[in-house]
Amino acid sequence: MDKIVENLINYLEFEKRHYRKELCVLETLVRDDTRLNEDIHECRKCELYINVKNKVIGSGDSNSDIMLVGEAPGEEEDKRGIPFVGKAGEKLEEMLNFIGLTKESVYICNVLKCRPPHNADPTAEQESACREFLIRQIKIVKPKIIMTLGRHAASAVLKNDSKNMYDYINKEFQTDDGIKVIATYHPAAILYSKGETKNKIRKQVADDLKRLKKMAGEQ
Ligand code: SF4
Repeated sequence: MDKIVENLINYLEFEKRHYRKELCVLETLVRDDTRLNEDIHECRKCELYINVKNKVIGSGDSNSDIMLVGEAPGEEEDKRGIPFVGKAGEKLEEMLNFIGLTKESVYICNVLKCRPPHNADPTAEQESACREFLIRQIKIVKPKIIMTLGRHAASAVLKNDSKNMYDYINKEFQTDDGIKVIATYHPAAILYSKGETKNKIRKQVADDLKRLKKMAGEQ
């Protein structure tokens, strides 16, 4: 009987220690997340902060194993302070529904947190200034798989200078922390391309999404 009681006490001690550890991890994550939000809101590291209505940080499930990274906020995102809420956001929802996911079930952010005027492509200087925040987001969310949307996102996540989609498509990558990376096209590329190009991009995105689903199932 004494042995059973002793084992029970040891077990409860273990649970207590484990529970405390989980709490500490949670506290650290909340603290890091709050500090990150403050740092982004205060940031003036590039000229883009001047004209924005809202900084756009991230949305969705920060506990998800899947993180989607786009390029930069557009007009609607800038107005609402939420990524992928315009037409590209509708297309992204459609893409995710194709493999049984939704925008709420994954974590979504952009490389740039401020909208470039007239939706211009991010410059190398802007990307380099804002990349620190993306890296901090990845450390907080700790995804198992990152899907990059568009060449600027692939380049920023993989720290590779190439802005050519063909250097990323149909390849397997990992970040320095061992997170798997799948690169696909930005939803806007499906929306605004035409004819045969549109069909090719659609097919590629469908293949990449199936790959994402398969990889997520293997985790
Ligand atoms: S785009 Fe990024 S680096 Fe530039 S001001 Fe906005 S938050 Fe700062």
